[in-house]
Amino acid sequence: MPTLICDFCSAPNPIMEYPCRSFGLTGEQALKPDTPVTRQGGFQWAKEKDLCLSSATTFQSLGSWAACDACHRLIDQGQIEALTQRAFAIFRQKDPRLNQALDDLRFTFLLFYEVRTGPPIPIP
Ligand SMILES: [Zn+2]
Repeated sequence: MPTLICDFCSAPNPIMEYPCRSFGLTGEQALKPDTPVTRQGGFQWAKEKDLCLSSATTFQSLGSWAACDACHRLIDQGQIEALTQRAFAIFRQKDPRLNQALDDLRFTFLLFYEVRTGPPIPIP
């Protein structure tokens, strides 16, 4: 069984699991002509079957997200910016080349709030 890590800051031994819809991120160029899209949370959403993903950069998230104790508390309080800054500080310490990643992290965590489907479940 793979070791679980926090999906927000990569810390080992996450304590909570947040149920989420699986989703992917891609660019407008993946939209086929006449693809039906819905707008929610400032994003355009389309069904995977309506996309042409071979040409576009994609990021995929499957199922639930795990969170360590510290991230869980920030999520629980809705502290998205604090969560972003915390993960950013940790990632940048590991690899200083990641100093451009702040916006990407913030964007990913905002998306997380869109795809959450229910309350967190403790990981045994
Ligand atoms: Zn964490």
